[in-house]
Amino acid sequence: LGSDVSIEGDEATVEDDEDDLLGGIDIETTEEIEVPDRLVDQVIGQDHARDIVKKAAKQRRHVMMIGSPGTGKSMLAKAMSQLLPKEDLQDVLVYHNPDDGNEPKVRTVPAGKGEQIVDAHKEEARKRNQMRSFLMWIIIIAIIGYALFFARSILLGILAAGIVFLVFRYMNRGSDAMIPNLLVNNANQQIAPFEDATGAHAGALLGDVRHDPFQSGGMETPSHDRVEAGAIHKANKGVLFVDEINTLDIRSQQKLMTAIQEGEFSITGQSERSSGAMVQTEPVPTDFIMVAAGNLDAMENMHPALRSRIKGYGYEVYMDDTIEDEAEMRRKYARFVAQEVEKDGRLPHFTEEAVEEIILEARRRAGRKGHLTLKLRDLGGLVRVAGDIARAEDKDFTEREDVLQAKRRSRSIEQQLADNYIERRKDYELTVNTGDVVGRVNGLAVMGEDSGIVMPVMAEVTPSQGPGQVIATGKLQEIAEEAVQNVSAIIKKFSDEDISEKDIHIQFVQSYEGVEGDSASVTVATAVISALEDIPIEQDVAMTGSLSVRGDVLPVGGVTHKIEAAAKSGISRVIIPAANEQDVMIEDEYKDQIEIIPVQHLSEVLEVALAGEPEKDSLVDRLRSITGQALDRQVGR
Ligand code: ADP
Repeated sequence: LGSDVSIEGDEATVEDDEDDLLGGIDIETTEEIEVPDRLVDQVIGQDHARDIVKKAAKQRRHVMMIGSPGTGKSMLAKAMSQLLPKEDLQDVLVYHNPDDGNEPKVRTVPAGKGEQIVDAHKEEARKRNQMRSFLMWIIIIAIIGYALFFARSILLGILAAGIVFLVFRYMNRGSDAMIPNLLVNNANQQIAPFEDATGAHAGALLGDVRHDPFQSGGMETPSHDRVEAGAIHKANKGVLFVDEINTLDIRSQQKLMTAIQEGEFSITGQSERSSGAMVQTEPVPTDFIMVAAGNLDAMENMHPALRSRIKGYGYEVYMDDTIEDEAEMRRKYARFVAQEVEKDGRLPHFTEEAVEEIILEARRRAGRKGHLTLKLRDLGGLVRVAGDIARAEDKDFTEREDVLQAKRRSRSIEQQLADNYIERRKDYELTVNTGDVVGRVNGLAVMGEDSGIVMPVMAEVTPSQGPGQVIATGKLQEIAEEAVQNVSAIIKKFSDEDISEKDIHIQFVQSYEGVEGDSASVTVATAVISALEDIPIEQDVAMTGSLSVRGDVLPVGGVTHKIEAAAKSGISRVIIPAANEQDVMIEDEYKDQIEIIPVQHLSEVLEVALAGEPEKDSLVDRLRSITGQALDRQVGR
């Protein structure tokens, strides 16, 4: 099995057919797909980042990776550690310093030697202690004998023997103190170390010296034994990965930079008032390759000197969120399913149809025509949920229906909230999806990244006492003002009403935390025009879109999720910006429920949304005539 299937383009029967979701490979299940051994060969997409990682591993350069979570940053960093030579690995030992107990000595030896040295020391100490014990018992017996025969006092004998016992115990401690502390042990390390220090506190990152509660009286643990390695030391000769680099406190970033610059870093106690803070070791090697990661703001908030250090001595690379949907890529996605199944170890392999469903979902999640999502951590989550469902039913393979069920089950928190919200609103009949109402528009918004919601907007226009104001409820004041400003230029030209003398009240019905509203300007404009002109709006229509001052409808994000939310709320038509038409990837079940109307201009929105024939027609005509220029330009393009 496996050998007759390949994902390489030249061996598989390549039919670059849109309908062939698996890109031409012919498999019954993912069991037949061979998963490459090296992590770097398992990475899907991210060609640029992968090339950089290979190059940087060869040249021992640092790398900065910027991109969305779950696109393979830590995977690539780990892959890099597999590319580094393991011959260079070292063990680090910390020794007691007889001249200054607070400055333990540090020695570096080839990997595997450290254990041998510690064992040799232990053996020596054991022998010495054995000899001493032997001597001790002879002395104790002699003392007790002497006390019984000559002094005739058992008490004196026991006392003297006790003193001898304590003296020997103290001496034994002394010889234990000679055993070095194996700080970094690479004896069993098959590949160069990979240390993930994301979110590590100072001690875990930079090393620490434990506090010793018995600081005096000869009972203390020798300081060299209390020294603990940090991630920067464990990553020596390997890779240190730090995600969300900007969340590391500035002092730690500074020290990290010192470690990078010097290639070594002394360990000291991190909590200032503990006895560990008095201890500082000789420098410990920190010759690692740094892979720093984060999203775009990570770069802005990271210590500028650290950033320039990485930039000056390494590479910066941006991770892709999506990749072009081609046959070769789809074959890799099939392999991705196999990879995730094997990584988990317990999931049943996927049937061909189940893989196809995953690829369809990758298309959908890309949110961009002709692309597949590279947010593969989440897609891997879907694979695991589907596999778990199949496993719970004791199936031999994960089937298409398991994937479909998993999709329903693995909804994000925002999706669950949004669905719950839609249900509740139905209960209270807050969703209006029939009839017509003046000043009320069913707007659409996105919650989180992947769930849409119907957000009605109501507008009311009243004469103003002073200069007209835009008054909005909730957090969306700014959006409301901007939207009104954008339409005011248009309204001024076609309407007899002077809105500068009016107060415009805008209510975002039931809007709440987490809803973003930059795509609400078409909605707000439509509501205002309806209120101003007293023409009702059809309530079976929902809409989304941004607006230019000339009335052009501009593209927005999240159209797929918005359309699905509208469909779930029982709305039958949805207006979207024409420029977003290609981004629509709604699930099949919604396709018959809702009509999608792409538009380019506000006049088209009103044409669809306004009710009441004569008034509407004259309004739309007027609007067309005054903004005709804008329309011509669009058509001409
Ligand atoms: P990041 O560090 O960017 O947040 P990770 O590297 O931790 O993402 O990705 C998490 C998991 O998602 C990986 O272990 C792997 O299973 C899968 N994954 C993410 N990106 C890719 C990719 N480009 N190719 C293959 N698998 C990926």
